[in-house]
Amino acid sequence: MYSLKCIECDAEYSKDAIIYTCSKCDGLLDVIYNYSSIEIDMDKLKTECPSVWKYAKLLPVKRVPVTLKEGGTPLYKCDRLAEKIGITKLYVKHEGMNPTGSFKDRGMTVGVTKALELGMKKFACASTGNTSAALAIYGAKAGVPVIVLLPAGKVALGKIAQALMHGAKVLSIRGNFDDAFALVRILCYQENIYLLNSINPYRLEGQKTIGFEIADQLGFRVPDRVVLPIGNAGNITAIYKGFKEFKILGITNSLPKMIGIQAEGSCPIVKAIKSGAPEITPEGNPETIATAIRIGNPVNSKKAIRAIRESGGTAESVTDEEILTAQKDLARLEGIGVEPASAASVAGLRKLVKMGMINIDETVVCITTGHLLKDISSVSEICEEPTVVDANIESIREAILRKVE
Ligand SMILES: *Cc1c(COP(=O)(O)O)cnc(C)c1O
Ligand SMILES: [Zn+2]
Repeated sequence: MYSLKCIECDAEYSKDAIIYTCSKCDGLLDVIYNYSSIEIDMDKLKTECPSVWKYAKLLPVKRVPVTLKEGGTPLYKCDRLAEKIGITKLYVKHEGMNPTGSFKDRGMTVGVTKALELGMKKFACASTGNTSAALAIYGAKAGVPVIVLLPAGKVALGKIAQALMHGAKVLSIRGNFDDAFALVRILCYQENIYLLNSINPYRLEGQKTIGFEIADQLGFRVPDRVVLPIGNAGNITAIYKGFKEFKILGITNSLPKMIGIQAEGSCPIVKAIKSGAPEITPEGNPETIATAIRIGNPVNSKKAIRAIRESGGTAESVTDEEILTAQKDLARLEGIGVEPASAASVAGLRKLVKMGMINIDETVVCITTGHLLKDISSVSEICEEPTVVDANIESIREAILRKVE
């Protein structure tokens, strides 16, 4: 049994309501469960491979899922990167290994399944790219039309390609993400289209499985810290909820400190956390190379600020240059190819270690949210161009020796 509850005024709504925010106070909604009625089969939990639907008993749907086998992403132990950063126990949870190459698939498999349960016949979202790619594949799988609104000129080509190829109707808005989001809310309301941005609490239910999987993959132990990039700040909220639920159910016995990283040119949550303000002040012109987190008015900021503070965590900003360095280090020290936003987690961790905010022997999990091939525009800033040589062995030998010098 579950229902929806406003995080501000505690108003409750039925699980059958088509509603995204509280109709009394416009507060964000959370899915709440009666945990005492949920029975977890521990033998199954300990033997089955991680995936979103492994944890179906903790997900708010009954219907057969619309799934493309999301989740179950690798948790890599990263000793070379750890050494460079100056800690000893570093893991990277590579969410780029999901079906469309980002964690958004976890939220969408649950959100779209719920949408069908609610009888909705059209789906839409505003997106910096990855949300649109994820919605497009589940719309395709379910046979339901998808409309996506993207900020014109600010979405990585790989992501647009995915939305187009999977058959979404793609609209490029002359405005930024925040403008596109305001418009898609109106569109969904007026046209009876189901809204699948992370303001939709069911999407976050899918994403909380990242928290479940981290604990699962560490042998049902909880890391000291989880570090991730934040944009609309749904994911940090969702992951923390996952850890909380495992603790409530007695599967684990502690919680991680949640660390959110934003880009310097787009960091309203960092400013709120550092100043102790109760709410964010939206930023009108967010700017960063990490387009997936180029968001000035994060939709889930109230939930995220609570999660960060309650967990004893923090938020930090990093420069685009620090992001690019971290992207290169992940690629070259660990073989993990990520898009720039994802590298913000590692850049932020490095900064916090340098500042003396993290002990050398803490267990830290960084989340890399999206795959390198999503956005290859930063490659030319980091890497040399391929060396062109004549088609003979002498030229090749000469070119190799030149490189090795
Ligand atoms: C969506 C996204 C983020 C930000 O996640 P939020 O839940 O909006 O905070 C970070 N990185 C990538 C690659 C994303 O696609
Ligand atoms: Zn309310």
